[in-house]
Amino acid sequence: MRKTKRREGGKTDNRGTAGPSSRRPVPETDYEAVFRDFLQARGLKLTRERMVILEEVFKHDDHFDIDEFHMKMRKKGLKVSRASIYRTLPLLQECGLVDEVKTTERQAFYEHIHGRRHHDHLVCLSCGKVMEFYSPAIERLQEEICRRRRFKSLRHVLEIQGHCKDCA
Ligand SMILES: [Zn+2]
Ligand SMILES: [Zn+2]
Ligand SMILES: [Zn+2]
Repeated sequence: MRKTKRREGGKTDNRGTAGPSSRRPVPETDYEAVFRDFLQARGLKLTRERMVILEEVFKHDDHFDIDEFHMKMRKKGLKVSRASIYRTLPLLQECGLVDEVKTTERQAFYEHIHGRRHHDHLVCLSCGKVMEFYSPAIERLQEEICRRRRFKSLRHVLEIQGHCKDCA
């Protein structure tokens, strides 16, 4: 369990910018409200199945792929089909709660990003391991590039692909 003690009163500002400082920790249960509002705007309901998936996603403080995620749920005795996980994750992605980390053409990992600090990834193409890193220098450089080109950045994805020390 994550311990995000800080409470930010008022509305959740989910419009992330490139700057890591702009992403404030928000109370954990807010993700439920974010998802509910998002679904409502589309005439969809936060069904029990969607709720179960949402809860499970937020219990994972790491990267996961759909099969592994589905298996874990089944082991816990949660009855959610693989198909509904496939349908729900893009919705969570669209409302900014989850990010998809594409490792190869066919493989992708997911991670929840709500209330988490911004980070980038190192992806091993042999074993599929995903490592996180955060470099203030790289972040600053990216902001500088955008500033120089008068480009208003909203988000960025930086992924370095290669082989980890176990696979090299
Ligand atoms: Zn970054
Ligand atoms: Zn590896
Ligand atoms: Zn990550």
